[in-house]
Amino acid sequence: MTEYTTVIGLEVHAELKTKTKAFCSCSTEFGGAPNTHVCPVCLGMPGALPVINKQMVEFALRFALAVNCEIQRYSKFDRKNYYYPDLAKAYQISQFYQPIALNGHLDVNVDGETKRIGITRIHMEEDAGKLVHSGASISTSDFSAVDYNRAGVPLIEIVSEPDMRSAAEARAYMEKLRAYLQYTGVCDGKMQEGSMRCDANISIMPVGSKEFGTRAEIKNLNSFKALERAIEYEVERQKEILEDGGHVVQETRTWDDAQGMTFSMRSKEEAHDYRYFPEPDLAPIIIEKEWVEKAKSELPELPDARKARLMNEKGLDDYSAELIVADKKMAEYFDAAAAETDDAKGVANWILGDVSAYLNSNSCGIGDFPVSPAHLGQMVALIKKGVLSSKLAKKVFAEMLKKDEAPADLVKKLGLEQVSDEGAIQAMVDEAIAANPQSVADYKAGKDKAIGFLVGQVMKKSRGKANPGMVNKLIIKTIKGE
Ligand code: ADP
Ligand code: MG
Ligand code: ZN
Repeated sequence: MTEYTTVIGLEVHAELKTKTKAFCSCSTEFGGAPNTHVCPVCLGMPGALPVINKQMVEFALRFALAVNCEIQRYSKFDRKNYYYPDLAKAYQISQFYQPIALNGHLDVNVDGETKRIGITRIHMEEDAGKLVHSGASISTSDFSAVDYNRAGVPLIEIVSEPDMRSAAEARAYMEKLRAYLQYTGVCDGKMQEGSMRCDANISIMPVGSKEFGTRAEIKNLNSFKALERAIEYEVERQKEILEDGGHVVQETRTWDDAQGMTFSMRSKEEAHDYRYFPEPDLAPIIIEKEWVEKAKSELPELPDARKARLMNEKGLDDYSAELIVADKKMAEYFDAAAAETDDAKGVANWILGDVSAYLNSNSCGIGDFPVSPAHLGQMVALIKKGVLSSKLAKKVFAEMLKKDEAPADLVKKLGLEQVSDEGAIQAMVDEAIAANPQSVADYKAGKDKAIGFLVGQVMKKSRGKANPGMVNKLIIKTIKGE
C-alpha cells in the first residue's frame, strides 16, 4: 500500500470585536431580537452608502502585525457577488485583489517540536446574516427566516499556506491563532459560538511527491475536535479513493458532526463565479508607516513572548508554559497566583492538575473558577513553607471550591497544620518503631522498602499532619541509633 502525506491549509474567519459594524453604525452586539441591529446600509437599500469603520482597520492591522505579516500601504475593497438570502445586497464587501496584509507566520508546537506555519494573507470583509429554518431540517422546514443582525459585522479572514501535515498540527495552529486573537483583543475566539470559524482544505499525496494532491474544502467545523475528526475522516476517504484507482475531485464538502462524516456540497464545476470587482463606494485604505509603527508599539505581550517569560523567569517547562499561555485568562490567573509564592512551578502544577480537572468536569473556563488566584497562590505558598502537606492541601482546595476563603484561615479552622515539631514527631516515631520490630529488622537487613511502612504508620498516627520528610529522616536516624 502507498504511504501518503497529508497536506492542510486553513481559512479562518474571526469576528472583530468592534462596537459597530464594518460599514455602518449599527451595533454588533450578539443576541438582540432579530433584525433590530439593522439600517439601510447593512440591509442593502438602494442608494445607501457604506463608510469604513476605522476600528476595524485598526484591529486588522494590529492582528496582522502580531502574526508577523507585511502590512500593505495600499489596500482596497472589492465586491464578491453571490445570490443567497443571507446577503441583502447580493454581494459581500471583501478584499480580494489587494488585501491589507501578506506573508505572515505563526510557530506551533506539536509533541515538543516547533514548526512554522505560513500565513498567505489577511483580508477584511463583512459577515452575512443568519438564516433560521423552521422545522427539524432545511428540507422539512415550512419556511426560512433571515436575521440581518450579523450582516455587516466585520471579519478578518486569515488564509494559511498549505503547511500543516496532520490533524494535530492543524489543531495546534488553530489554538495558537485563537491565543493571538485573544491577546491582541480583536476577537474572543469562540469556535462554538462562531466568533472564530474555520474551513479546512485537505489533500493527500504519495510520500516524497513534490506535487500536492487535489484538495477538498471542508466547511461547518464548529470546534477543535470537529476540525481534527474531519481531517482524519477526510484523509481516510481520499486514501480509499486513490487506493481504488480513482481520483479525488476538487469540491466543497460539509462536516456532519453527528455522523462523523463529510458530504459533498458542490463540486468545482458548480463552484461560484464571484465576479469580483472593485467596490466603487469605498476609498482605498492607505496605511502610512507612522500608523504601522504606532500600532506596533502598542502591541501587548503576545503568547510566544509570554511563554518565553514563563519559562525563563518562572522556570516552567515548555509543555506547561504552552498550555498556560494558550488561554489568555489562564495566563493572567497564573501570573496573579504566582505573585503569592516563589513556587511558580507548584502553581503551574495545581493549575494544570486539580484546577483544570475542575474546569473540565464543570465545562467552564477559568473566568468562572470559584477560587481566586491569590488564594490558590497562598495555598501553594503554605505547602512550600511546610505549613500544609500536599495531601491535606487537597482538603483545603476542596473547601475553597465551596467557599473562597483564605487558605491560611482554612488550615487553622480545619486543624490541618502540618506538624514539623521534632519532639512531637520523635514521640510518634518511637512508638511506631516499638510496635513494629519486624519492619525494623527488615530495614536493618537491607530492605529499604520497610521504611515506607513505618512512615505510613506515623502519618496515620498524626492523621496525615506530620511532615513526611521529617518523619522519614527521624525513623532512619532512630533505627541507626544516631
Ligand atoms: P480558494 O480561493 O479556492 O479558496 P486558495 O488558493 O485561496 O483557494 O487556497 C485556499 C486554501 O487552500 C489555502 O489555505 C491554501 O493553503 C490551501 N490549499 C491550497 N492547495 C492545497 C492543497 N493541494 N492541499 C491542501 N490545502 C491546499
Ligand atoms: Mg478560499
Ligand atoms: Zn447597519
